[in-house]
Amino acid sequence: MGILHLYTYTNLLLDHIEYAVPAWASVSEKDRTKIDEVQVQCLKKVMGIKSNSSSAAVEVIANVMPMRIRIRQLCCREYARIMTKNNDHMLRTLLSKSVRNGLDFCPLKYIHVMSKQLEKQLSDCTVEIEPVLKNVNYLASIDIFTVSVLSHGSFDAQSRSTEERQRDCEEISLFIESNKGRSVIVFSDGSVYKGPVGGGSCAAVLYPLPANESYSTESKTVGHKVTALKCEIEGIALGLEVALQYYLKLNCSFNIVQYLYIMCDCSEAIASVSMSNVYAIGATLYRRITSLCKQLCDLNVKCCLAWIPSHAGIIGNEMADDLARSLAYDVFMKRVDAPMYVSLSTAFNMLNVIAVDSWQRKWDYEPTGHFTRQLIPSVGSKIVFPDSRDVGISYCRLLLHDTLLQDDSYRTGTSDTPLCSCGKDRETSGHFLLSCSKYNNQRTVMTCVTCYILSTIFVHQSNTKELLKSLKISS
Ligand SMILES: [Zn+2]
Repeated sequence: MGILHLYTYTNLLLDHIEYAVPAWASVSEKDRTKIDEVQVQCLKKVMGIKSNSSSAAVEVIANVMPMRIRIRQLCCREYARIMTKNNDHMLRTLLSKSVRNGLDFCPLKYIHVMSKQLEKQLSDCTVEIEPVLKNVNYLASIDIFTVSVLSHGSFDAQSRSTEERQRDCEEISLFIESNKGRSVIVFSDGSVYKGPVGGGSCAAVLYPLPANESYSTESKTVGHKVTALKCEIEGIALGLEVALQYYLKLNCSFNIVQYLYIMCDCSEAIASVSMSNVYAIGATLYRRITSLCKQLCDLNVKCCLAWIPSHAGIIGNEMADDLARSLAYDVFMKRVDAPMYVSLSTAFNMLNVIAVDSWQRKWDYEPTGHFTRQLIPSVGSKIVFPDSRDVGISYCRLLLHDTLLQDDSYRTGTSDTPLCSCGKDRETSGHFLLSCSKYNNQRTVMTCVTCYILSTIFVHQSNTKELLKSLKISS
């Protein structure tokens, strides 16, 4: 299946189906079943799947959330948006006063009922009332640079091998050594305890100018319900803050430009700050960072952001990580005070997790799609489809255990025998791909191509051989 076909559904058609959902989500059960059916039929058509295949499995393969759960998610989004309004806003009044009569809901009552789980998770926290972002275009951009301190500056820490981490660590030590007495270096980090949204805090470790002076540390709580990204950006802000205090304490004016290096291990946070992304940062924090950079600039200090890999044994980073982590745990245990409000983007994050969780539960207990579940146990997995539609359709049918091979046809009653025409075994996908003697030549080509692809993907990794061995492919 060309990716375009699925794209047509998810990006063009789905938008129309979902249009203004919060207004009509309280339709009758019969109508909701029809909407479910529209999605499943569309997916089956674009993916070339037989009509009797498991609908739940089709949605998992296409990575499209079941309509019912999607509708609830969109209602929750609306609820979160309404909660950002002031207490006396008409929608908030309606939300608290709407009623239902049996199974007939007023739209806002329905939204409220659908959002019970989110409401429970927010517990004592409230959704932050957003400051009105008028004239976003006129906001000053953040005066900060990104620099690379690593010769193999990559933003992907996960794929780095042990040797690469070692090399990164040595390069950073060298960088600190060579900047002693010349530049201030700050390591910043953020941490969230439990899950994508939880108790969060940030920390900064400052290496001062004089080489004989020792480092200083600072940590700060971020909130009871925050995301890792928020904590990382708060960490950068804290880094700027401790650096500013440090420069002010020195109480001297610099004739030549001073460089301040903030070392952060989160590429997303660095990108948000350096690109002045006010929506990702949030208006309040954005203003704080702009003002800090401005004050540093007035002191003739240039702020530079640099990415470093996390958990690579870089001492400053490890210290900041430990500090942030233990404070985040304290926030979670409610041993320390932390802000009790949740930003709108964090609320969205929470309701996305709720939606994916209920989709996962539905998939776990689904009576159909047993075979697909063994291959794709987790919902939300991205399946890579080939460009050729014919190959894509065959691939989807293989994932569904519902091909046109004899064994599948026999099971569904469209063939008299499950046996392959080679006469040796049942014609299953395993037999067809791996052992049928009719396709020996094609199989040799397939094995060669697979080996070639794997060797090009894992060329930089030392464990290619083990991987090939585990896949039982001999090179
Ligand atoms: Zn055969």
